[in-house]
Amino acid sequence: MNYCPQCGNVLVVGVAGGRERLLCSAACGYVYWNNPLPVVGAIVEYENDTVVLIQNRGWPADWFGLVTGFLEAGEQPDQAVLREIKEETGLDAEIVERLGLYTFYQRNEIIVVYHVRARGEIQLDEEELQAYKLVPIKELKPWPFGTGPAVRDYLELRLHRLKD
Ligand SMILES: [Zn+2]
Repeated sequence: MNYCPQCGNVLVVGVAGGRERLLCSAACGYVYWNNPLPVVGAIVEYENDTVVLIQNRGWPADWFGLVTGFLEAGEQPDQAVLREIKEETGLDAEIVERLGLYTFYQRNEIIVVYHVRARGEIQLDEEELQAYKLVPIKELKPWPFGTGPAVRDYLELRLHRLKD
């Protein structure tokens, strides 16, 4: 963001609400708050104790992640996550539980992550995604950012419940 979306003047660094932010250099009063954007994500359990990981277009060939997406206006997070799974993978899913809220600092997002079970035949949304892989749950390893901590919590919960 370089220019004020209200009046077109240059944005400058200043203080608003007790923090440094970009403010309009003219008198229109615009503040770029840069609040985090809500996102939904899912650990998609699939056949034979596997989890579906996806690869967005443009990602390196060894990067895979959870299905994630933005909410539509007026949509509840649990509707949004099931819609995103259907759109991206073609699978029909049902929510097992909501794992928690995770902050993706680098992308300024708050991710609501669900554990779901899915059925059907995988049909990848080839406009958005370039690959998927089925990872046996016992080979799943969390990564240190974004949705990775949700994977860690999911694995810990699962291990705990298998012991009970
Ligand atoms: Zn302005």
